[in-house]
Amino acid sequence: MSENSKKSVIIIGTGLVGSLCACFMAKRGYQVNVYERRQDIRTGKEVRGKSINLALSHRGRNALRDVELEEDILKTAIPLKGRFLHGINGGLKSVIYDPILKNCIYSLGRNYLNKKLLEATNKYSNIKHHFEHMLTKCDLSKGTITFLNLKTCEEIQETADLIIGADGAHSKLRLYMQQMPQFQYTQTYIEHGYLELYIPPEKSCKMQPNHLHIWPRCEFMMIALPNQDSSWTVTLFMPFKIFYQLTKKEEVIRFFQDYFSDAVELIGKEQIVDVFLNTHPSQLISVKCSPYHAGSKFLIIGDAAHAMVPFYGQGMNAGFEDCFLLNKLLDKNNDNIVVTLDEYTQLRVRNAQAICDLAMYNYLEMRNLVNTTSFALRKILDNQLFKLFPNLWIPLYNSVSFSTMDYQRCIENRKWQDNVLRTAFIITGLFIIISLLISRY
Ligand SMILES: Cc1cc2nc3c(=O)[nH]c(=O)nc-3n(C[C@H](O)[C@H](O)[C@H](O)COP(=O)(O)OP(=O)(O)OC[C@H]3O[C@@H](n4cnc5c(N)ncnc54)[C@H](O)[C@@H]3O)c2cc1C
Repeated sequence: MSENSKKSVIIIGTGLVGSLCACFMAKRGYQVNVYERRQDIRTGKEVRGKSINLALSHRGRNALRDVELEEDILKTAIPLKGRFLHGINGGLKSVIYDPILKNCIYSLGRNYLNKKLLEATNKYSNIKHHFEHMLTKCDLSKGTITFLNLKTCEEIQETADLIIGADGAHSKLRLYMQQMPQFQYTQTYIEHGYLELYIPPEKSCKMQPNHLHIWPRCEFMMIALPNQDSSWTVTLFMPFKIFYQLTKKEEVIRFFQDYFSDAVELIGKEQIVDVFLNTHPSQLISVKCSPYHAGSKFLIIGDAAHAMVPFYGQGMNAGFEDCFLLNKLLDKNNDNIVVTLDEYTQLRVRNAQAICDLAMYNYLEMRNLVNTTSFALRKILDNQLFKLFPNLWIPLYNSVSFSTMDYQRCIENRKWQDNVLRTAFIITGLFIIISLLISRY
């Protein structure tokens, strides 16, 4: 029996991050107990929450590869090589993410991916699932945690060497950590919400394949990602105040005809009106906190530690990277949990907070900046410089989505690039002025 098989870990939540984390910990040889308040999604009825599909990129793939899941999951994923912009006057434009190295992001169904990750846990006999068990209490000083069995209404107190909260943006474990001295916490609900619509498979031939479609409209935007059954999931992100102004069938149809005329036929007026008048737009939250660990055994990962707005498509990817990093640190520290947790917080907080900020910025880029000439010129310049200096000039989107560069460094790198370009423009301008002056005299 290895030393690790004596180590025990409790994971709270079988969402995307909790399920992947269970695989990582089981692969280390730990005894893993996973508690989830919902039913097993593989056998229970489908639960709708958040988005229907997600974009998987480099960091997520990197983590999946480490537990031998990448190949299987990518089999059904749909590669997206760029953005497809729908102008308000009917203009269409494809903007490739990475024309140099041809990297793609991948569209995947959320439920499909979650089921795949849960199925992957079957491979490990040292993982035990406890569905319909809700975390209700936590004693950080004693290192114990209490679950309510939702079927029997029985309360169970548990402990382990390591207790990981992967219980999402409204984490109960984090709530207990918030009572610790010096725990920093901020949450921001943005003033924009979202509604999901659907383009059926029979209309999909009218959608340019292998792209993330965007209808950028300055104050708001609509996007569409392809599903495995050839349908498309369309998400409208918009200020709540505009959602609330559209209360009548005619107003909703007029609004769509004014701003998304080419999408009306694809989605269908009936569905648009039905969704608008009968669904409440969902909220978007961004959470920053520090530290990510408490005492010698508690840790929060994924959305529990750093929920972010979805505009960089990095929430899940960052959560998967959390699992990868935790595993690497346990390797480095010979399974010393106390040292690992401390190092984890030191390395992860600044990077996770950086991607929360980048995600906010990208909403502006997607709904507005992509329409501007300066953005298009910068993209051309970035791509040319990337081609010439692939190790030196990595454009921001590439560093976030197609590399494992620290998120914090992605921001610093971009600032450095901005400074270089600014200096180059000033020097060129001065050179031109001086040349003109010399040629006149
Ligand atoms: C509209 C939208 C689009 C997105 N698109 C992308 C994208 O393209 N790419 C990307 O990388 N990310 C995307 N994200 C972010 C991504 O969805 C999240 O980052 C990811 O789901 C986080 O996973 P998680 O496992 O940490 O949390 P969750 O998926 O929220 O899972 C938490 C789990 O914990 C369980 N739980 C909660 N409380 C308790 C309790 N008290 N006791 C027991 N169990 C509990 C829940 O039932 C759930 O199963 C998007 C998010 C949104 C809202």
